[in-house]
Amino acid sequence: MASPDQDIWVLAEHSDGIVQPVTYEILAFADKVARAINGDIVVLAAGHPARPAAEQIAAATGLDAIGLDTEEASFDCTETHRHLIRRLAGSHPPRLLFIPHTTMGWDLAPGLAVDLEASSLSAVCGFTGTSDLVFHRRILNGKLLQEVRPVKDRPAVVTVVPGAEGPFTATTTRPGSVKIYEGRSLPGRVKVLGYVDPPPGSVDLRDADVIIAAGRGVGDAENLKSIHELARLFRRAAVGASRPLCDAGVLPLACQIGMTGQTVSPKLYVALGISGALQHIMGMKNSDLVIAVNTDPNAAFFREAHYCVVADLHEFIPLLMEKILRFRGNPPE
Ligand SMILES: Cc1cc2nc3c(=O)[nH]c(=O)nc-3n(C[C@H](O)[C@H](O)[C@H](O)COP(=O)(O)OP(=O)(O)OC[C@H]3O[C@@H](n4cnc5c(N)ncnc54)[C@H](O)[C@@H]3O)c2cc1C
Repeated sequence: MASPDQDIWVLAEHSDGIVQPVTYEILAFADKVARAINGDIVVLAAGHPARPAAEQIAAATGLDAIGLDTEEASFDCTETHRHLIRRLAGSHPPRLLFIPHTTMGWDLAPGLAVDLEASSLSAVCGFTGTSDLVFHRRILNGKLLQEVRPVKDRPAVVTVVPGAEGPFTATTTRPGSVKIYEGRSLPGRVKVLGYVDPPPGSVDLRDADVIIAAGRGVGDAENLKSIHELARLFRRAAVGASRPLCDAGVLPLACQIGMTGQTVSPKLYVALGISGALQHIMGMKNSDLVIAVNTDPNAAFFREAHYCVVADLHEFIPLLMEKILRFRGNPPE
């Protein structure tokens, strides 16, 4: 395969022909880096079929995209993606390869860095510098920011945490070019057997504009009814949770927000009965507007929130719902 002479590659995440929103966040990060180092971005979409994803990205961003396709049985496996990217890189690997810090990214990045004889930097959330880039990572549960520098004159494979940036803003309406490369006879030791769908009707937290997040203060599972009712008042809303609720099985693990859960950046985050432990805050600190409701006036969450409500959430939720409905000219009976 021929390798394009570009500085920055960004690996897209897509499934069933749909590009995942995390791709556009990583592209926004890559775009900032590209401006700093005066580099060009090429987006890679690996998997099968790769063309729809590559075309969507090129149309939405104006960036050039390359689809890496193979019809082999192991097409949907990161091991296969690794072989495809290595072949594309050939003897001209990019200076930087950005990959989302997701389950796919964790799986793929270290091995790919070995293949490309590259520096491997994981869970990056920011950067400084221009020609001499320094990347930032949160360590020790987010208490410290670590600065890391890739080795000079070598490529670097960098995983970027979702939510590190908002979505990419295109500066042109002209679509980028699309090229498709097909890989054959790829070695593979892992086979993806299938997927288990999430429960029907659940909105992906990372796609949600509004997140109503429940903490241990909510109490019993039956109290969740009012949380779901509140969420239903908003379009593109999802219910999230702190870890204890997910550990207890009150809400599915997919709802967990924080260091060991999802990283989210909605327009509105309503935290109900969540203390504000650092491990939770790490997952939602990029939210645009934060409202926290807690009976404890000294709750740590109040240091993060734009609006702090000292109240019992069970009393506050019906009042808030009533206000919203009245405001929309649809008062409750
Ligand atoms: C390695 C590690 C990783 C972790 N990862 C995560 C993670 O990804 N996500 C995560 O969330 N946590 C994570 N945790 C756990 C985290 O440290 C906290 O223990 C957890 O976030 C606390 O959840 P909480 O705020 O719901 O519960 P609590 O700390 O018990 O807080 C409950 C809050 O509800 C308030 N409250 C009680 N009743 C009411 C009421 N009626 N109305 C209003 N407020 C009320 C209380 O005042 C209190 O502030 C992790 C911990 C470790 C060690």
